[in-house]
Amino acid sequence: MPTYPFPSHIAHSAIIVLHIVSQGGDEMAATSHASIGSRDGVSTLAGRWPLLGQRRPLVIYLCAIVALDLAAIMVFAVTTVFQWWDLVTFGALMACGAVCIEASRRLGMPAGVSRDLLSAWWLPVALLLPPLYAIFAPIVLQILLQVRVRATVLYRRVFSAAAIGLAGCAASVAFHWMIEDPWVLSLGSGPPILCAVGAAVLFSLLNIALIAIAAHTADPDMPWREVLWNRESVLLDIVELCLGVTVSICCGLNLALLILTLPPVVLLQRSLLHAQLQAAARTDAKTGLLNAAAWQREADTEIVRARRTGETLALLIIDIDHFKRVNDAYGHLVGDQVLVGVASTLRSQLRDYDVVGRFGGEEFVVLLPGADIHEARQVAERLRTRIGHMAIPVDDALVRVTISTGVALMSVHGDDLIDLLAAADLALYRAKELGRDRVCIPVVQSPPPPRSLPSDDHNP
Ligand code: GH3
Ligand code: MG
Ligand code: MG
Repeated sequence: MPTYPFPSHIAHSAIIVLHIVSQGGDEMAATSHASIGSRDGVSTLAGRWPLLGQRRPLVIYLCAIVALDLAAIMVFAVTTVFQWWDLVTFGALMACGAVCIEASRRLGMPAGVSRDLLSAWWLPVALLLPPLYAIFAPIVLQILLQVRVRATVLYRRVFSAAAIGLAGCAASVAFHWMIEDPWVLSLGSGPPILCAVGAAVLFSLLNIALIAIAAHTADPDMPWREVLWNRESVLLDIVELCLGVTVSICCGLNLALLILTLPPVVLLQRSLLHAQLQAAARTDAKTGLLNAAAWQREADTEIVRARRTGETLALLIIDIDHFKRVNDAYGHLVGDQVLVGVASTLRSQLRDYDVVGRFGGEEFVVLLPGADIHEARQVAERLRTRIGHMAIPVDDALVRVTISTGVALMSVHGDDLIDLLAAADLALYRAKELGRDRVCIPVVQSPPPPRSLPSDDHNP
């Protein structure tokens, strides 16, 4: 089930969404907060309470969801009749969730990534038990995740638990409204199973919507389509739905059958985590772009292809101008937001098959397969203009930055990655020297005129 931050997948766009919301790995967030802690009273507070460092609409939205969750707890606590068999079923499903968490704990969890198959356990809670249990199930499992797997920023865990709890509660209410006795699910007849699938779809849609609104509120520039749609995540949602309904049916047949459903879910959970860890190893945690090593590998592959096919190819090195001043004036946390904003603009302005990476610090690299020098310049100028117009709101001010870019063209300025990087770096250096906020290409030194051979007359 997607939890906050928005699920990360292998696709670039989703990774960007994730990192825009999470603003990088938790470790980085921690150091950033520490660095702004000494700036003034408000910043110190934001350092201690990372939630306060977020955009105000996001803070309001997160608080509203948590308040709604608490209100739902109070309403359903009054109306729920506690039965011992419900408590036993809840305990058994939570125990399965705990085993799942423990079994994949040693694999670790990539920073900010929180996609798992735990809804295989809380969906049966929502379908079979009264709605109150559906609100409590994610609280139990999020506490376990926080304590046993990864101690992330607390407000994210609280929001995740509230979002899943509300989605589960709505699915539970809908299912109990359609089917009077939820345990008939295990009789195998069509209508209850169809209703269970409908409730599970509602559960997924609501959860995705709640998370997507958080992602969009964190970054209003991010198009809704990118926030909401991702083929990988839809596939995972379908797997979760199938697992959740199947486990519910088994659970209704005989609680002991949970022992048979546990191993396949654990295995799926582990392979899902493994795939995410592999993706994370290629990704720069702060910006969601490729990291330097992964970019270099992909760039090498593209260069070999271009050489084979004879296609043109261009390389850009982009450096944020006077970035140190941004850090000095507003703190590292704002500096990080600028990095995330620049990365997101780069991604949104480039084609899917352009290879974008963070080279390190405030430097980015872009490979443009098929681009000639004219097109590469155009792209670089467009990026410069867009990033120049970007504004990061900080308290009452807007932070703006400019970029300098060095462009190099395959076969003209170099034949392999090292040469192209060196040529683009030289061009970048020139852009800085000429006053920044500009695009430069390397000066190709024209070969010296061929020296005329001494004529025979002058030979001794
Ligand atoms: P120039 O226009 O010449 O490029 O000046 P500059 O200030 O951008 O370049 P300089 O190399 O002097 O400083 C780069 C700064 O980038 C220094 C470093 O603290 C900061 N930086 C590097 N990585 C990060 C990061 O991940 N987050 C933040 N906030 N700052 C970073
Ligand atoms: Mg630099
Ligand atoms: Mg710089």
